[in-house]
Amino acid sequence: MTKIQATLIPGDGIGPEITEAVTAILDHMGSPFEWDVQQAGMTAFDTVGTPLPEATLDSIRKTKLALKGPLTTPVGGGFKSINLQLRQAFNLYANVRPTKTIKADGRYDNVDMVIFRENLEGYYISDEGYMEHNGDPEGKVFSTGYNTKEGAQRITRAAFEYALANGRKKVSIVHKANILKLLSGMFLEEARKIAKEYEGRVECDERIVDACAMQMVMYPDAFDVIVTTNLFGDILSDLAAGLVGGLGLAPGANIGEDAAIFEAVHGSAPDIAGQQKANPCAFLMAAGLMLEHVGKPEDAQRLKKAVVDTVQAKDRVTPDLGGTGNTMSIAEAIMDRL
Ligand code: NAD
Repeated sequence: MTKIQATLIPGDGIGPEITEAVTAILDHMGSPFEWDVQQAGMTAFDTVGTPLPEATLDSIRKTKLALKGPLTTPVGGGFKSINLQLRQAFNLYANVRPTKTIKADGRYDNVDMVIFRENLEGYYISDEGYMEHNGDPEGKVFSTGYNTKEGAQRITRAAFEYALANGRKKVSIVHKANILKLLSGMFLEEARKIAKEYEGRVECDERIVDACAMQMVMYPDAFDVIVTTNLFGDILSDLAAGLVGGLGLAPGANIGEDAAIFEAVHGSAPDIAGQQKANPCAFLMAAGLMLEHVGKPEDAQRLKKAVVDTVQAKDRVTPDLGGTGNTMSIAEAIMDRL
């Protein structure tokens, strides 16, 4: 079998530990990927003096496919988020985060939603600055965001196409057009235009983001596919992860026309790094999304089932899942089921 070339970035903090677990599991099931291992983030900064080496960019330009561990971003000063730079460098306009109940802890056992977050625009363009206020030249700060018609249309189209391809019934457009009349209003208008094209095939509703957050907690089963702007999508997808047992189980995909980067939703978890406490399941499920992306849905399904069965059986699971196991023990439990 010819292997599929893919870039592998272990990343920072717990990244190397979960990468070791995930590559072991993929190898065990007969991985279709041949990894080109590259560095990014703090690890790259400390070893080669830059958080995003040219070799890493070159590798992704070549493979157009990457599995990326979490990268530490310095708060306030320091370098600009490498995750953001990667999304911009490869025009990865869609951030796709599926959230489904795995852990049967009785809190929410019927969550099954997919959030399509616009990944390049909104407030994430990070155009910020100081202004004079009361005589203080830095007494006021501003942050601007922009949305484009093209950006709003392509993320909405991606959400509707996904709904059609995956037998989903409804897309909810989430906005704050009542207050941000231009920024969010234009997103809503353009999204409505795209929704019209799918009338009769996929249902559509609209929700204001604050009410949406409450409804997601009170009636999570009322949601199917959600499409929204960058910042709202960031917040709502972490909320969704919380509904199903936390960040340790939430994968995400960053998809563009020419490349795709898969990752766990969680960060580098410096508080538990190097202790073998990290749950590798979110990163493993990200590898599952990558298998689907390269046309291997059966392998993806097999992997997902092994994760779900292991987590539900609480077999050798990590502390965040209520167990006393560690990163490698849960990996072994998953391999035993594959
Ligand atoms: P975090 O997700 O790293 O950690 C939040 C909490 O969840 C911590 O208590 C952590 O121990 C726990 N946690 C996270 N992943 C876990 C796992 N796999 N298993 C068990 N527990 C897990 O968020 P943070 O602390 O806000 O951020 C730490 C760093 O990660 C920051 O530098 C941030 O910028 C970065 N970050 C990176 C990404 C990414 O690369 N995609 C995403 C989010 C945050």
